[in-house]
Amino acid sequence: MRLVSVAIVAIVLAGCGRSVDLSGGHPLADLVLTNGNVITVDSNNPNAEAIAIIGDRIVALGSANAIAAYVSDDTEVIDLQGQTAIPGLIEGHGHYTSFGGSLLILDFRHARSFAEIVSMVEVAAKNTPPGEWIVGRGWHQDKWELKEAVLVEGLPVHETLSAVTPDHPAMLIHTSGHGVFVNRKAMTLVEMTNDTAAPEGGEIVRDEKGNATGMMRESAQDIFREAFSGHQGRRPAGVADDELRRMVMLAGEAALRHGITSFQDLGTSFAEVDLLKKMADEGNLPVRLWMAFEEQAADMEGRLADYRMVGYGNNFLTVRAIGEKVLDGALGTHGGWLLEPYSDLPRSHGLNVVPIEEIEHSARLAIEYDYQLAIQGIGDRAYRELLNIYEAEFAKHADTTDLRWRIEHAQVIHPDDVERTVALGVIPAVQGIFACSDGPWVVDRLGEERTLERGYIFNTLAEAGLVPTNGTDPPVDEIDPIGSFHCSVTRQLPDGSKFQPQEVYSRERALYSYTMGNAIAAFEEDVKGSLTVGKLADITVLSQDLLTVPDDNIMDTKIVMTIVGGKIRYRNGEIVP
Ligand SMILES: [Zn+2]
Repeated sequence: MRLVSVAIVAIVLAGCGRSVDLSGGHPLADLVLTNGNVITVDSNNPNAEAIAIIGDRIVALGSANAIAAYVSDDTEVIDLQGQTAIPGLIEGHGHYTSFGGSLLILDFRHARSFAEIVSMVEVAAKNTPPGEWIVGRGWHQDKWELKEAVLVEGLPVHETLSAVTPDHPAMLIHTSGHGVFVNRKAMTLVEMTNDTAAPEGGEIVRDEKGNATGMMRESAQDIFREAFSGHQGRRPAGVADDELRRMVMLAGEAALRHGITSFQDLGTSFAEVDLLKKMADEGNLPVRLWMAFEEQAADMEGRLADYRMVGYGNNFLTVRAIGEKVLDGALGTHGGWLLEPYSDLPRSHGLNVVPIEEIEHSARLAIEYDYQLAIQGIGDRAYRELLNIYEAEFAKHADTTDLRWRIEHAQVIHPDDVERTVALGVIPAVQGIFACSDGPWVVDRLGEERTLERGYIFNTLAEAGLVPTNGTDPPVDEIDPIGSFHCSVTRQLPDGSKFQPQEVYSRERALYSYTMGNAIAAFEEDVKGSLTVGKLADITVLSQDLLTVPDDNIMDTKIVMTIVGGKIRYRNGEIVP
């Protein structure tokens, strides 16, 4: 094994012109991980104890003894002490910058007092240019253990908040969304005085002297929300760019904390890609991105060729897909487009959201410019319509093969369409976690029989030969590969019952879905998805072995370390710059 590895290394390194010390027959590694339980997800070489890395590539895998030969005085050696190393996890479907944006807004869900919220806002104010808004969400006065600030109608007054934010308008959104709490600066900005009357359907809460406390109920919050969005829209391009950069960094850091080294985004714009390309040039992208355009087909005409890039900036940015237009809506709101009516809403088959013609136009562009197409199809009717569109477009171009067009979510699939999917080489891009987040109510929507036959049949798809995929669709669901892995292999709901338990993935398949499977769904299996000599050194170290730990302990798995391209980017709870 070792000799084979070294031979490949010599070729790889000769190719990039690196000078190598081959004294003793071994190149010397920059980084060595050793004494680990290395699960490679490479069937030719499934297990190892140690990994040697030069630059951003894996140069050897083997026993601790064998890999010791790659260590020089300059090599950083990490003793894994029996912990488990797996290929860097790949988020297979998410919304990267909106996820980052959701992190930019302060999160008060866990705040135990108003004073704690005020101090969070104070920190944010120090890091925000004067005049910019500070926005947070998720507070609820009933969660507060300290009631000292609760003065008027069970709510605080704005004085302490206003004292730490003299130069920033602040808007703190109640967890219900039915009200906001604002500071003095925000009230000044919208010219609200003690004489301002509340709009119809709204309430400005006042103290006994008639002063506004800062709490705005229902429609009284609208003027603040409008002022905020108006301000965001008017900012000079540079400021918006800076904010986008912060979103990129925040999303990336959250990904690294969860062991994710690559993220597939279903919904970018030309402007966003311009900035990401700049950040790739600077070496500032925290994780590797695969971006799919969510633009009108007419706007993409003539532009796609210039924007297509594969492995740009040392494999940090790939743009070669059109997605996620939504052919239908979600099952929760009876929007998923079904072949037969909803069991609990018999008048409705769900909704066709984006017109078929628009998807067909995107399909023509995808073929012409060699982009993947990745469209949302949640219900079985939406799924079938997409297969029809894809099939018709493929038929016009019989010379093209292996296009790997995807159907995103693929939550309800008619049995007749499984074989068609295989024949067309289409990839259902599913998210394991949704089986557990939707499981408690989806039987109401579909009825028992239909659920059994068509609902979240992810293992049936894999058994039919389709590429298993995985993800959590952040920010729709939390970024949580361990949670999605757990649901994928248990289908266990919060109440302990199981949803479609016959559709569990094996442990091996679940790991494969989050690594190789997702890599294949993005045409990236040549550089990612397994720990293999010559591939990128993207590695996640876990506190325990996901293949063997009992079901009940899966959720205790901690991310110990995240390595991207041979660089340790997360370790012991800290982001490494
Ligand atoms: Zn999505």
